[in-house]
Amino acid sequence: MFKDKDTFKRALTRQLVDKLGRPLEEVSEADVYKVLSGMIREQIGRDWAQTNTVYKEQKEKQVYYFSMEFLIGRLLGNNLLNLGVLETVRDGLKELGFPFGEVEEQESDAGLGNGGLGRLAACFMDSLASLQYAGHGTGIRYKYGLFEQKIMDGNQVELPDYWLQKGNEWEIRRPDKQVEVRFWGNVVTREVQGRLIFETIQYESVRGVPYDVPIIGFGNPHINTLRLWSAESMMDPFRQPSGQDGSYYRYLDYNRSVESISEFLYPDDSHYEGKLLRLKQQYFLCSAGVQSVLRTFGKLNLPLTELPEKVAIQINDTHPTLVIPELMRLLIDDNGFGWDEAWEITNKVVGYTNHTILSEALEKWPQQMVKELLPRIYMIIEEIDRRFRIQLNERYPDQPDRVSRMAIIEHNQIRMAHLAIHGGHSINGVAALHTEILKKREMKDFYELYPERFNNKTNGITHRRWLMYANPDLAALVTECMGSRWIKHPQELNGLIKCCKDAAFQNEVAKVKKQNKERLAAYILEKQGITVDPNSLFDIQVKRLHAYKRQLLNVFHIIHLYNQLKENPNMDIVPRTFIFGAKAAPSYYLAKRIIKLINTVAARINGDKAVRDVLKVIFLENYSVSLAQKIIPAADVSEQISTASKEASGTGNMKFMMNGALTVGTMDGANVEMHEMLGDENMFIFGLSAEQVQNFYQYGGYSAWDMYNSDSRIHEVMDQLIAPGPVCSQENEFRDIYQSILDHNDEYFVLKDFSSYIEAHLNIDLAYRNQSDWHQKAILNIAHSGKFSSDCTIREYASEIWKISPVKRRQI
Ligand SMILES: *Cc1c(COP(=O)(O)O)cnc(C)c1O
Repeated sequence: MFKDKDTFKRALTRQLVDKLGRPLEEVSEADVYKVLSGMIREQIGRDWAQTNTVYKEQKEKQVYYFSMEFLIGRLLGNNLLNLGVLETVRDGLKELGFPFGEVEEQESDAGLGNGGLGRLAACFMDSLASLQYAGHGTGIRYKYGLFEQKIMDGNQVELPDYWLQKGNEWEIRRPDKQVEVRFWGNVVTREVQGRLIFETIQYESVRGVPYDVPIIGFGNPHINTLRLWSAESMMDPFRQPSGQDGSYYRYLDYNRSVESISEFLYPDDSHYEGKLLRLKQQYFLCSAGVQSVLRTFGKLNLPLTELPEKVAIQINDTHPTLVIPELMRLLIDDNGFGWDEAWEITNKVVGYTNHTILSEALEKWPQQMVKELLPRIYMIIEEIDRRFRIQLNERYPDQPDRVSRMAIIEHNQIRMAHLAIHGGHSINGVAALHTEILKKREMKDFYELYPERFNNKTNGITHRRWLMYANPDLAALVTECMGSRWIKHPQELNGLIKCCKDAAFQNEVAKVKKQNKERLAAYILEKQGITVDPNSLFDIQVKRLHAYKRQLLNVFHIIHLYNQLKENPNMDIVPRTFIFGAKAAPSYYLAKRIIKLINTVAARINGDKAVRDVLKVIFLENYSVSLAQKIIPAADVSEQISTASKEASGTGNMKFMMNGALTVGTMDGANVEMHEMLGDENMFIFGLSAEQVQNFYQYGGYSAWDMYNSDSRIHEVMDQLIAPGPVCSQENEFRDIYQSILDHNDEYFVLKDFSSYIEAHLNIDLAYRNQSDWHQKAILNIAHSGKFSSDCTIREYASEIWKISPVKRRQI
């Protein structure tokens, strides 16, 4: 790409002047960002085209990862890293007078996702390309990504994230690849040569136009495509859209409704809302995506019966489940297949990843809504359900309850998870514990029917962005210690185990952590004017705000610590800085109140001279991928404290571990697998087990009031939510939170786990006092984190579900 720094400087300078027609002195960081990313995009063009040519000529099997969310974050730095020119560019820019950090900040953070699920999709893209698999992303090009969060007077305020305002240097609009997606209308049937033909009339057409983003593999010329679909009106304004009357105003209405389809990302996480627009988005993604898949397959000149040999589709949660009836529709209506043959093909192509057991997140669409918006798709789902019921009745002749439990359409609702399991050949959970819960509880009926379809694929994160890019000094240290093979083989990070007791290495690791903490402290000072001590223990919880993630437990512990300090000002504790970052769904009242509580407690504690040398509380606004990259390398302690059984996997936990933070966590999600490797000595486990939690739900036997009445620490903290004092400035200020716990019998066992959580934190305090031991633990965390590289995860998906291998280019 750029041979050396001077070549790069010459090339960039020339482009800057050529493109902008201005002398170098008048060029801004924004200009540099734009021109530089444009240069990179151009330079990779040939490899991108070549990758696609190889796929076609070698007839490689293609994987398409369908997801409503891709939380990719900024691309410039990551692309430079993967192209192997990050250092060259950084040094060159510096000499030209443009600090890389400032240039990088010019890029919008692409926030096309809510949290873990969307970030997983982005990490998978990076691994697919880096491992040279033929794997692509299919998503929506939302005009507005996840809202930008401002904290005003302690409350969350949401601002629109118009990330495309400055343009997007990485995407290429491909109008030549557009497709038509149809909504509404009526299905008419006729018979042609003894065959029933289904035709939809009076539908409304929408144009799906793809924008392609190159996904650059690390250290190889392999470039995959993330294809994001944008919804546009079908006709130019001077012609009538098909199937519409000629009214001009009607056309304007149509126009507006079309554009709304790819207008914004729904800002909800772990919660399902049966909104028509959301259903439109989902079908738009599925229809445009599947049509595009079939078009690409068509270029191979193979019969569609061979589709399963050449195409795999993975759906990220149930959001894209409509790929199943959509593929059926295209095979039957457009390609003349009979039902059984179409079903077999569809089944072999589609795999489904389950992300949650939270009942409020399980998608169920109202039958009537689907029937009206997608009449032909609805007919197909009805037929799938009819045949499935026959199959179930044959298998379970005397169990009508089981049949209705498992049916796809029941109580006037379409259960997307059932459709996805029955219509695909694979269903996977995202951590060992989660998959076991699916098999034994949530999807037990389906596991008994289709045991061979169930499998586990523990989530992962790309170590390129989350270690090499976010924490370059630590990455350099690892390489210094044991060479650079770990970069291509992250599991070899376990070579660090042998260095964990090495005092010199421990010191180096400590030094890097300290520098990262100093950088974060500087950021906090700049943003909030609050000084935090980099020598204090940085205890961090960053993730979406949700009751099950239990930010409340963390705050209650902080209030408790504060109470103890007020009672005993000389109490000997390791100074701590508690840091939070979290967005709440705009309609999630309780979550927003918890943000207010955190900020209220923070203001009180930070303003109290008596404790401010030992206790600080910071809420960082607008948690996002870019902010995560700043925060996580600076963590000493990682808070992963969800109610056991509720967090399917978590991926934040893995990022922290890889950056040498120690976890305080429940036996939930992937924490269980972390614990398996690390043991009790190297992480701080507390709280109820998943089984205990589920038994309480099933059999009762827990009373929040009893906890409140029997534990004076709990009593004190709870009362402080409603009485003026260290938390409230007026009576009943946080009565809503107080009641959410006591009146709903503490659904997430915050009070139940409080005592063991305090104990875990006492152990953290003790452990931190022995710095050498602490850093030994930190090194062991890094050493064992290779298993959580998304490279490992993707290899498992590839070999066990998709049946693909890395692409080997034949000599031409
Ligand atoms: C990794 C990540 C998440 C997921 O964090 P969890 O702790 O697993 O919920 C959410 N948001 C962003 C920006 C992330 O980078």
